Amino acid sequence: MKLEHYEKIIKTENSARKFLLGFCWKNHQRFCPKCRTRRLYAIRKGYRRCSRCGYTFHDFSLRFLNNGNLSCQQWLRLIKLFELEAPTSRVAEQLGVSYNTAYKSVTTLRMAIVAHSLDARLIFSSIHGLDLAPSGKFRKESRHGLRMPVFGIVERGDHVFVDLIPELDAESILHFKMNFHLKTASIGKIIYTDRYKQYAALLIGGNALSTTYGVKHTDKGLFIDSSRGFWSFSKAWFQRLRGISPVNFPLYIKELEFRYNHRHDDIFPILAQYLCAFVPNFEE
Ligand SMILES: [Zn+2]
Repeated sequence: MKLEHYEKIIKTENSARKFLLGFCWKNHQRFCPKCRTRRLYAIRKGYRRCSRCGYTFHDFSLRFLNNGNLSCQQWLRLIKLFELEAPTSRVAEQLGVSYNTAYKSVTTLRMAIVAHSLDARLIFSSIHGLDLAPSGKFRKESRHGLRMPVFGIVERGDHVFVDLIPELDAESILHFKMNFHLKTASIGKIIYTDRYKQYAALLIGGNALSTTYGVKHTDKGLFIDSSRGFWSFSKAWFQRLRGISPVNFPLYIKELEFRYNHRHDDIFPILAQYLCAFVPNFEE
């Protein structure tokens, strides 16, 4: 989004709120987020109660942007800074909030991106430590003993799909390497492999592999090294990543997939839309 337009919508808290509400309620039509009833009554300021199920809610209840304590103007500034790939420390500084608040809000945005990806259901059901709750809250929790997930890259024309492959882990990649000579190389803290089945490469966060058995990941001429599209887009990105944990690795991967597939689009309104979406309940 051009700054000129951005400045207009962010001018006041009211205009920022109006912009976000446009993504929440089509034609301003409120309905109960739990049972979809339209018969509601207003109770105190900003709150409504459903006449059928009795649920009390406000305009942002059960949505991603209800996670994190930012005003509407701050959310829009956060989206702008995220669009420009500002590091979290800069986001905190620019929004005038603590690093933790900025980190939590950026995580909200990343969770919303993951939830909108094609394999969202699989990711939330198979990565322990990443959970979406029916209350509209989410949990991202690094726990001891979590397995580093493996992703596989599929390029289709102009798009890329970086799919979670739940049946693979660090051990399986080592096994393919030792017994079937699958080539591996590293970039930043990421380890990637040669072609595997339908995948142009497998990807895994490095720590799980690099220290094990003194195995080196320095092979040359891997299939994806000659790919110009997604791989050249990703290299600089991977080099910037630090501290990859099993729960934030999927967030980074899905952010990268999102940025690549929308590289010719204005991602500002898309991110606003994602943030305003209801937190899905994949357990239903
Ligand atoms: Zn209801």
